Amino acid sequence: MAARVIDGKAVSAAVRERVRVDVAAYVEEAGRTPTLATVIVGEDPASQIYVANKHKACEQVGMNSVHHGLEAATSEEDLLALVRALGADDEVDGILVQLPVPEHIDPDAVVAAIDPAKDVDGLTPTNAGLLAHGTPGLVPCTPAGVMELLAHEGVELEGAEAVVVGRSKLVGVPVARLLLSANATVTICHSRTRDLDATCARADVLVAAVGVPRLLGAAAVKPGAVVIDVGMNRLEDGLCGDVDYEAAAEVAAAITPVPGGVGPMTIAMLLVNTLQAARGRA
Ligand code: NAP
Repeated sequence: MAARVIDGKAVSAAVRERVRVDVAAYVEEAGRTPTLATVIVGEDPASQIYVANKHKACEQVGMNSVHHGLEAATSEEDLLALVRALGADDEVDGILVQLPVPEHIDPDAVVAAIDPAKDVDGLTPTNAGLLAHGTPGLVPCTPAGVMELLAHEGVELEGAEAVVVGRSKLVGVPVARLLLSANATVTICHSRTRDLDATCARADVLVAAVGVPRLLGAAAVKPGAVVIDVGMNRLEDGLCGDVDYEAAAEVAAAITPVPGGVGPMTIAMLLVNTLQAARGRA
């Protein structure tokens, strides 16, 4: 059996089109344009590409974006001052500080300085707390993208066994919380989980967010499961996920490819969050 391929590019395009229409309506009503402010400290080439793509995506849906590129030697104090100034700036709806920051800066302090109402990455303690309470504010983009893919595929989550591999604040924990809110029975696996394959093989919905190339093979996939691979691992021969795609696709009912699965959803959900933040402030 060959699994159905879940096309993240197509779902992402549909979400962006929805945002484009909603932004036009917002501009008409509010008389202003939603604006995303991005901050990079240093010259990390991957960060430059990610942020350039986010600006392009804003432009495509009719949003404004402004960028603050700071020198690698910028002090934590100066960065915190900028983040707070953006929080106080009425023209700015969303604030995104691209991680990682240089080692002399505490990323938790930076995230905590972001106004929660403008926290379009959904990473502040306030938004993490709201999610934990089951009353989400701004939700982290990649987990929100995973849920959008599942909704688009019409996956029945109520009562389903969901297994999430990975417990990061960025992906694993928020995905698990969202699945729980959708009434799935959720198990979270991590590096100390004893029998990873057997635990994963219980899952009707398996989400891999690990960072280990092709960690999960056919033995980790229940026949007929839906497999969402968040992993983005750069190997010499290109990008690969945390799931052995070929092997898993023989067993699963549906699976996301890497690239072209979860990846394109992250920016789409950033746009959703920026519009949500703008509406929240109106
Ligand atoms: P992370 O912070 O490094 O967390 C990895 C998690 O995987 C940890 O909870 C770790 O467990 C667990 N883990 C590591 N090795 C394991 C093993 N052998 N068996 C079971 N669990 C194991 O990573 P992350 O930020 O969540 O990202 C995960 C992956 O998603 C990466 O490949 C990243 O590039 C990708 N990602 C993609 C997107 C996208 O847009 N598609 C966005 C964000 C991240 P412990 O907690 O016990 O250490």
